[in-house]
Amino acid sequence: MAEWRLGILGGTFNPIHLGHLVLAEAFRGRLGLDRVLFVPAGTPPHKPAGELVPALHRYAMVSLAVAGHPGLVASPVEIDRAGPSYSADTVETLAGDWPGARLFFLMGSDTFLDLPTWRTPERLGAFATLAVGYRAGSTFDPEGPAARAVLARLGRSGWRRVPPVAAEALAPGECALVETQPVAVSARGVRERLAAGESARDQLPQAVAEYIADHGLYREPA
Ligand code: ATP
Repeated sequence: MAEWRLGILGGTFNPIHLGHLVLAEAFRGRLGLDRVLFVPAGTPPHKPAGELVPALHRYAMVSLAVAGHPGLVASPVEIDRAGPSYSADTVETLAGDWPGARLFFLMGSDTFLDLPTWRTPERLGAFATLAVGYRAGSTFDPEGPAARAVLARLGRSGWRRVPPVAAEALAPGECALVETQPVAVSARGVRERLAAGESARDQLPQAVAEYIADHGLYREPA
């Protein structure tokens, strides 16, 4: 049987926007993923709680956003778990849920540079290949000192670039660099527009824009 490839895209998704969907679709194509799980953080250890709408709203918006995308799925695994959402625990849980699947932990380059501040980031590599996509507006230099320091922290001496390296050649623990089309959208930018009373419909899936309007979310400045 051909191997089964599962991508995991964690985030606060506060709210989910078109940049997240483009990123996930790019990873799906480049890595030949059968499924990408969007995993909204329940209680993210990293982001100020005041700016976060409740997890159930963020999960509902993720579910609406992925509805028209075969292969993209919302996962409640972190919001169902009490306490802070540590990604290494999530990946370990999913590895247990999907024995035999090859796991890819997906992220934008800004998140990659943040990894040393996470709890036990090296544990992610015990279960998954780490896949990093370029992000719009970032000054990310994959060979620069900041990226090199993170690779070293993860016990890697360099990137595996996809292409030319094929997804099936990637082992758990390796760091894959995947070129993705940059999309200049950020959740912070969306929140700021909405709090200013402006529309952010051009940056959101339509059903998400409607959900935000129906529930009166993000009306107050954070
Ligand atoms: P905020 O602006 O609130 O920090 P965010 O969209 O950057 O939000 P998350 O929702 O946590 O933050 O992002 C989830 C993942 O998506 C991260 O790995 C992040 O790097 C990536 N990502 C977010 N926006 C984009 C984008 N426009 N292009 C590519 N990747 C993105």
